[in-house]
Amino acid sequence: MAGRRRPLGPGPMMRKFEMAQSYPFAALVGQDDMTLALQIVAVDPAVGGVLIMGDRGTGKSTAVRALADLLPPLKVVADCPYGCDPARLSQGACPSCGRQPGRKTEVRPVPVVDLPLGATEDRVVGALDLEKALVQGVREFAPGLLAKAHRGFLYIDEVNLLEDHLVDLLIDVAASGENLVEREGLSLRHPARFVLIGSGNPEEGELRPQLLDRFGLSVDVKTPQDLDLRMQVILRRDAFERDPEGFRNEWQSANDKLQKKVVKGRKLLPDVQADASILRLCADLCQRLGTDGLRAELTLMRASRACAALSGARQVQKSHLRQIAVMALRHRLRRDPLDDTDSGVRVERTLAEVLGA
Ligand SMILES: [Zn+2]
Repeated sequence: MAGRRRPLGPGPMMRKFEMAQSYPFAALVGQDDMTLALQIVAVDPAVGGVLIMGDRGTGKSTAVRALADLLPPLKVVADCPYGCDPARLSQGACPSCGRQPGRKTEVRPVPVVDLPLGATEDRVVGALDLEKALVQGVREFAPGLLAKAHRGFLYIDEVNLLEDHLVDLLIDVAASGENLVEREGLSLRHPARFVLIGSGNPEEGELRPQLLDRFGLSVDVKTPQDLDLRMQVILRRDAFERDPEGFRNEWQSANDKLQKKVVKGRKLLPDVQADASILRLCADLCQRLGTDGLRAELTLMRASRACAALSGARQVQKSHLRQIAVMALRHRLRRDPLDDTDSGVRVERTLAEVLGA
């Protein structure tokens, strides 16, 4: 085994694979709520994850896999399997960076990691590296998907069908930003901060409320009913599948422009103000809708600030609130036994009352 290259670094093959395969984000058509929600969490990961529910074949996973286009590559500690941020080592480094400070740096694309439904806990959390243990007699930790997703996105398709024990685990890690491993005689912790993206078909099952609550934003996607839009979706998809590289090249400058907008939004975000009148509108909206706790208001504030930053505004306007209210609130409403109106429609109705529009 000696002299073999470490399998965990982002070698040139992997980089090429990631760059060449995904559909360009800028080329997504329709599904404006979904693309806005993804851009908002790219600007401010603190908004929380995004839940995308809807029919099959509406481009949910295509959009998620294109997420890396929104952000510039990350500066990481060279060879670190967790992708530690060299500028933040003092605020929580992985065990290996903690032992050897001052290592070289490298850049990697923002990770977008798939968590498949059938994944074992070992694969998600990480486990004892069996090969090393058997061949070299060394007890070493092999990082899992949570480590790979650090500083990026963790994507679960059919999230509503995820097994309970994995749901519990994700809730814990998403809340603490840390993966604590105590198993097989191993004991370690490493940073695992990621934006959770879930998608699914609502007819196949419901999400547990605790998990639902972890998602800052939730969007419904439907098959487009507009004929021209449908044609455009098909034309682009077909062009991409025939020549992925050519299609990506064609969309490169649009993608670059979009990335610049997100980066600008990130820089602007700390300066964006939401005055008392906006805060009052948020509180009024949540009170009328009867949302539990104050998380809803907090998410509304954060998401509208990120939305303002994305559009280059320093002040949150009603228009920003209007754009994000449904996605921030629709999954937080209690079911009303006397009113089976779609929760998105209920939010829209109340929003119109509050904004007086
Ligand atoms: Zn590290």
